[in-house]
Amino acid sequence: MSYSKVGVVTGANKGIGLAIVRQLALQYPKSPLNNGPFLIYLTARDKGRGEAAIKDLEQDAQLKKARALKADGGLAEIKFHELDITDSSSIKSLADHLKQAHSDGIDFVVNNAGIAMDGFDANIVKTTLDCNYYKTLEACHAFLPLLKSTGRIVNVASMSGHLNKYSDDIRNRFLASKTEDDVSSIMKDFATAVEAGKEKDAGFPSAAYAVSKAGLIGGTRALARTAKEKGSGVLINCCCPGYVNTDMSKGNGTKTPDEGAQTPVLLAIQDIQGKTGTFWQSEKEIEW
Ligand code: NDP
Repeated sequence: MSYSKVGVVTGANKGIGLAIVRQLALQYPKSPLNNGPFLIYLTARDKGRGEAAIKDLEQDAQLKKARALKADGGLAEIKFHELDITDSSSIKSLADHLKQAHSDGIDFVVNNAGIAMDGFDANIVKTTLDCNYYKTLEACHAFLPLLKSTGRIVNVASMSGHLNKYSDDIRNRFLASKTEDDVSSIMKDFATAVEAGKEKDAGFPSAAYAVSKAGLIGGTRALARTAKEKGSGVLINCCCPGYVNTDMSKGNGTKTPDEGAQTPVLLAIQDIQGKTGTFWQSEKEIEW
């Protein structure tokens, strides 16, 4: 079976990731970039949870009513593939599969998988930066060569990565970062300061998740800049989905997962007028 469009969503067994898959299937037929059959890889680190999510989507009344899925005469097919973004061999295994199965390239990757741990200490910082920053960027590098020249990468960051929580010095370092190494050196300084119990003196908040997402915004900008310099046409952007009612927000979010999915879906399959290296919220580009 050949597909006109192929996309990947990470951490898609629940929450915003699952809603992104639903919304992609619902919105694609009306997208100006609709050019035929669409394959969406719903990926998850746990096979059981991923396959259960696919079963739920197959029974989803809204998808059925809209005839969004191929089984009901629509354009979208959803397949499961395992992906734990903190495991380099898992990233490689999905990249190898995509390369082999889609020799013309894939169209987009939405890096939605992320964690928010309770508490604050050096271990929590290490685990959070590893998942939300280092491994998310590692996944970007693994998938970038597989994307068509018209492809997209969408990184789901957060408004908590806004730069209003830092000393002027750290804020300026973030803003001046041109490469991922520049951003990684800020992440390293944060982790070192936390180990010494001195992150506030060093100009950082005592917040692992917020710093990891600031890193992801900076890393996305840097990656977009280098890709463009190398002549890549791939558009690489990041966004905040809003405060969304999911397990991560412990049910306190004010948006539904479907509402939270709108901006990532827009960045993946709508006309964004060639924008790259930008940060979005509520379907608009915003200042970092
Ligand atoms: P959930 O906790 O509901 O879902 C997170 C998803 O990420 C789950 O599918 C989880 O899988 C997956 N995941 C976690 N670690 C890994 C990993 N190592 N490899 C693969 N998948 C992984 O959170 P949300 O849906 O709320 O969050 C989705 C994204 O949106 C995150 O990046 C989050 O930071 C961001 N965000 C959320 C906001 C909100 O208000 N909810 C606000 C701003 C940003 P599993 O089920 O196996 O744990």
